[in-house]
Amino acid sequence: MHTTHIWSTRSSHLTSDGLVRYQQCACGRQRVLLDAFDGGAPSAELARPARVPVAR
Ligand SMILES: [Zn+2]
Repeated sequence: MHTTHIWSTRSSHLTSDGLVRYQQCACGRQRVLLDAFDGGAPSAELARPARVPVAR
């Protein structure tokens, strides 16, 4: 058993939250990564102005 896994990407696909990557080590352990978009995310930027509270 090792402590440092060597991750290799098995598959990946884009979602509205970012790029999801499924990785697996030679020992059989798996993990899922989500690479969130850093900037250039129109849906996230457009969502903020819509949440401005209404002044009373
Ligand atoms: Zn491993």
